[in-house]
Amino acid sequence: MAETEQVKNAKLEAKSPFELRVNLGHGVPETEVRTALATGDMGFLHSFTTGSTVDGPGVRVVAWTTGCQFRCLYCHNPDTWAMINGIPATLDRATAELRKYRAGLKVMSGGFTLSGGEPLMQDRFAVKLLTAAQAMGIHTALDTNGSLGGRLTDTELEKISLVLLDLKSWEPELHRRLTGMEVGPVHDFARRLGALRRPIWVRFVLVPGLTDGAENVAGVAKFAASLGNVQRVDVLPFHQMGRFKWKELKLDYKLDDVQPPSPEGVERVCAQFRAEGLRVY
Ligand code: SF4
Repeated sequence: MAETEQVKNAKLEAKSPFELRVNLGHGVPETEVRTALATGDMGFLHSFTTGSTVDGPGVRVVAWTTGCQFRCLYCHNPDTWAMINGIPATLDRATAELRKYRAGLKVMSGGFTLSGGEPLMQDRFAVKLLTAAQAMGIHTALDTNGSLGGRLTDTELEKISLVLLDLKSWEPELHRRLTGMEVGPVHDFARRLGALRRPIWVRFVLVPGLTDGAENVAGVAKFAASLGNVQRVDVLPFHQMGRFKWKELKLDYKLDDVQPPSPEGVERVCAQFRAEGLRVY
């Protein structure tokens, strides 16, 4: 890959995924992008961040990929939608970045989480990076919207210690309105993980007026409980931290007037998950 000055100067580390990053892959020829996607020898990354305690067990190093086919109304990282916004990083560079944290992660019983964006938009790169992490003896997690899970073989799923699976809504029409995509493939992937007994942490973003309907929550909770492999559910209260990115990118943000859920609203939803026998955080 012929590296531009911009790419050479772009740092993989970021303080948080809330840093706005655009156009860092601009200028990479289309053929190189296609080869990267086919081989996984290069990926597009928004950044690496350290110190997360919410993206899997222990302290996590998180690689945030770019590229996502969903358009969630509440997305707090819309700069990760376009793959070309990310830093083109060879597999060797990304692996070397991760290796820097290997000893510390072991001491802290932490691990590596691949998030995004949607990491399976770059499924070959995702598999290679997760395989490299596993070979270093690091716990691996994949944070995914689940819709492209069919791109991974059963053997490749074994490279992933834990899947953080976003279940955004139960009702198909609401899922379409919320994300622009169908819910069916997400549920198919969840059922497959259940059949394979691969561990899942479900993530459910609670957006007042959108995802908090009692029937919708009950549907997600019943479905999650039916899988038999869900270790915990994280109910994530909606927040406005990503709004500035929508404004900067001149995107039509529709949730300006939505407030974070009240503590009572969060507790009601958590109780619905608990009622199905699930551990909730
Ligand atoms: S799946 Fe995640 S990255 Fe993609 S639009 Fe939704 S919230 Fe944003």
